[in-house]
Amino acid sequence: MAQAKEPSFRQSVDLMFNRAVALMDLPPGLEEKIRVCNATYIVRFGVRLRGRIQTFVGYRSVHSEHMEPVKGGIRYAMGVNQDEVEALAALMTYKCALVEAPFGGSKGGLCLDPRQYDEHELELITRRFAYELAKRALIHPSQNVPAPDMGTSEREMAWIADQYSRMNTTDINARACVTGKPLHGGGIAGRVEATGRGVQYALREYFRHPEDVARSGLSGTLDGKRVIVQGFGNVGYHAAKFLSEEDGAKIIAIIERDGALVDEEGLDVEAVRNWVSTHGGVSGYPNATHVPEGDKLLEHECDILIPAAVEGVINLGNAARVKAPLIIEAANGPLTAGADEILREKGTVIIPDMYANAGGVTVSYFEWVKNLSHIRFGRMQRRQEEARHQLLVDELERLSADSGIGWSLSPGFKQKYLRGADELELVRSGLDDTMRAAYQAMREVWHGRDDVEDLRVAAYLVSIDRVAKSYQAKGL
Ligand code: NAD
Repeated sequence: MAQAKEPSFRQSVDLMFNRAVALMDLPPGLEEKIRVCNATYIVRFGVRLRGRIQTFVGYRSVHSEHMEPVKGGIRYAMGVNQDEVEALAALMTYKCALVEAPFGGSKGGLCLDPRQYDEHELELITRRFAYELAKRALIHPSQNVPAPDMGTSEREMAWIADQYSRMNTTDINARACVTGKPLHGGGIAGRVEATGRGVQYALREYFRHPEDVARSGLSGTLDGKRVIVQGFGNVGYHAAKFLSEEDGAKIIAIIERDGALVDEEGLDVEAVRNWVSTHGGVSGYPNATHVPEGDKLLEHECDILIPAAVEGVINLGNAARVKAPLIIEAANGPLTAGADEILREKGTVIIPDMYANAGGVTVSYFEWVKNLSHIRFGRMQRRQEEARHQLLVDELERLSADSGIGWSLSPGFKQKYLRGADELELVRSGLDDTMRAAYQAMREVWHGRDDVEDLRVAAYLVSIDRVAKSYQAKGL
């Protein structure tokens, strides 16, 4: 647990912001304008449950409106508070700027433990919360567009979208009021796994640069790398799944609330997932060693550590003992500012949250565009693309036959080449491109400036510069 002298989550984000801004030359006052959270709305509302009225406390913070709508997830957890929501909203501003998603930053939260309520109760609570936010334009297709975060999923997003539609029956763009919806409720292919997929693409991009890999003391590719994942929810599970199934990484430990599973030979990610879905935790899983004090595994030897649960898990209390040479922050704010400093001094390479988990907002952006354009990606082009490819293949085969050379295209090539891209492929391509471009932007600053030591400061410099330019362009 974090020690007393640790700053709060919001202060931690501010300290990191300050470290970057000290290297910039912003017009007087603009620095503060960018740093502060514009507004936080706190709502207390009652819902009749189990024969009595229960009162809930919810938040929606708007950090920066340099671009609208503002965007950011809604979290359901007992620890939700104003400081946390404001920190997360600030990170959303910087994240959107870094991946060039045209949004300002926002975040919301409801102080409750979703495991204590059944589905019907959660629907009542979610609809009421959505009503409270929507009537103040804190859910709105052109002003404020939430998404899932910890404790929420496409199910809650579907309820929110429906609630908004009921309140705005003539709004043709109502579905764009929230992203992360189920595919059959106005969602987009590839959104559920987008954040984990983004973590995979971020790591792939990092490993494309041997010079960068060398800075962590690692070498080679992702193949065979020993990975520890903390938090086996949406983000952690998908990152672990893709890295082990597609890149040859070995998931040697999974840390959850009820302890950690360890297998130096690599865990079977799907088998653990099935166990957790039926048993509600990792305890009792038969094919690995269970360590009750799960957080100890954050300090275990590995190549890559992926904290994908909550903020502040690597702090002044344990940072010095963390051995991973490479940390990718899949969660928001898993390292406190103090831990960040200790690890930097040790030479640990940290791929920062605002980049590492930006896959979610990137695909949310695609979903929002899809909702506003009212058409699935690829619907107009797919068959036309296939027909053009068929023309080329036919012509090559004709030339080969006419000239007597006797070439033939392999069936595998033909099958792959002839098929036009569907929505999922287009989403993945857009996400991959976004993750590569954002890494390049950070990397240019990281390598190009003598006063920039780490990727986090590089990420802040890129994003603050973009936000500043946007404010300046507006005449602020
Ligand atoms: P989730 O609710 O699906 O999963 C979180 C998991 O972490 C759960 O399995 C929970 O049991 C576990 N957990 C919670 N506290 C823990 C602890 N102290 N130790 C070990 N495990 C713990 O949430 P998620 O959507 O996967 O979000 C995880 C993190 O990723 C959060 O920081 C969130 O802000 C961030 N994030 C999520 C998205 C998204 O699209 N869902 C996008 C960007 C960032």
